Amino acid sequence: MHRAGFHFEYPDRRKSEQKRRLAKQEIAMRVAAMLKFSELVGSDITSETQAEETLRELFSKRPHIVAALGIALVALDALWNGSIWSSAVALLISVLCLIYRVIIEQRFLSRPAGPIETKWVHLFVSGATISGISWGLALSLLIYDQSASTQIIAFAVACAIVQGAAGRAYMMAGTAFINIGCVLGSISIAGIANGSYLFALGAALYFAFLVSFILQMVRNRLAQLQAEHRTEQLIQEITEKNELLRFANEKLAATAFEDPLTGLANRRKFDRTLTEALAMSQQEQSFISVLMIDVDNFKSFNDTYGHQAGDHCLKVLSKAISAAIPDKDCLLARYGGEEFVVLLPGYDPEASLLIAERARAAVELSALSAMAGSPSSQTISIGLVTSLGGPMLTRETLLSASDAALYEAKRQGRNRVCVYSDLAQSAAQPEPTL
Ligand code: GH3
Ligand code: MG
Ligand code: MG
Repeated sequence: MHRAGFHFEYPDRRKSEQKRRLAKQEIAMRVAAMLKFSELVGSDITSETQAEETLRELFSKRPHIVAALGIALVALDALWNGSIWSSAVALLISVLCLIYRVIIEQRFLSRPAGPIETKWVHLFVSGATISGISWGLALSLLIYDQSASTQIIAFAVACAIVQGAAGRAYMMAGTAFINIGCVLGSISIAGIANGSYLFALGAALYFAFLVSFILQMVRNRLAQLQAEHRTEQLIQEITEKNELLRFANEKLAATAFEDPLTGLANRRKFDRTLTEALAMSQQEQSFISVLMIDVDNFKSFNDTYGHQAGDHCLKVLSKAISAAIPDKDCLLARYGGEEFVVLLPGYDPEASLLIAERARAAVELSALSAMAGSPSSQTISIGLVTSLGGPMLTRETLLSASDAALYEAKRQGRNRVCVYSDLAQSAAQPEPTL
């Protein structure tokens, strides 16, 4: 079915066309701006290094040596044809101009380090203008009242010189127009004064050709600078995003091992650390202890004071236990619910028992009075197991032994530490010593 007036365009295509249109407009605006004589093409999007490289290229004496040689060649022809004065003055002008260009290039290269100041751009503009006037003057002398062969060679050399200037005009187009205008303008005047109107016509046509040539080069240069600028921006954005991603990953890694309620290590972290500590104790044949901790009658605490108060109580208790555990190499983790677990690598049975008793006492003494309506204190029971690392010792043995000792502590009436004393016969019943 034909639907009159219905026209569908893919949004992506529309967007890219819009982008292309905007880019063209921007380039057109910049082409207009480049005609400002003392500005590098695309100066608003060039980096400091790009600007430095461009000016270094613009100040280069190489094209001036070639131009001087070209003018010397014409002067030689004029001399050959008997024009001593014209050839001598033209040669002198081009040599002086070359000396001036060598001096200003040297000045630019030996400038103090730092960002490019506008005075260097201005110096280049005056240099290019002086060169244009000098070349124009020298070549006019070699056209006016000279033999036909000298005039033709002079015209050819003038074309070669302005073509060279046009080839470098993408860097500073406005200044190139001045330079080219001076040369072609001077030889046109000389041609007209000599009655050779064809020179003026040829120069005008050539100037028109160079204008379109330079504009195309400037467009290309701007597109290239824009692409480089965009690439730099993207690299910058990617670097920033990578940094954010790294930060987020670090945070994620930290929270993956953290219990959100108490801020302690979680069970995942404990499991990893236990595996490492066990391997170490087996390697060094050193002691390793596990304390299994359970809050006493916590269900009735929750039932009486509410779940929120229960959460707060867990936070307070975790702080109290944490303060009782030595910092060095030890790990306190929330094992789940109202159960905590402590890993003590390298602590012998007496030291481990002392730490367990200290934790129990710390909880008993912890102030819960800050909580409205809560009891003055809460107690914990602890099951402790200590063993020397050996080939038969496993995580499961350690955990089930500490669990069994905890069970015994509960059985004996809670708020106490029980030690699993005979790990060698883990199948046997624990023998509480406290
Ligand atoms: P026992 O002395 O024998 O350990 O008695 P208990 O009441 O502590 O033991 P039980 O296993 O019957 O109850 C544990 C309670 O702990 C049940 C549950 O509501 C509570 N609990 C577990 N995790 C949390 C928690 O994250 N927040 C709160 N508020 N309570 C929790
Ligand atoms: Mg429990
Ligand atoms: Mg409990």
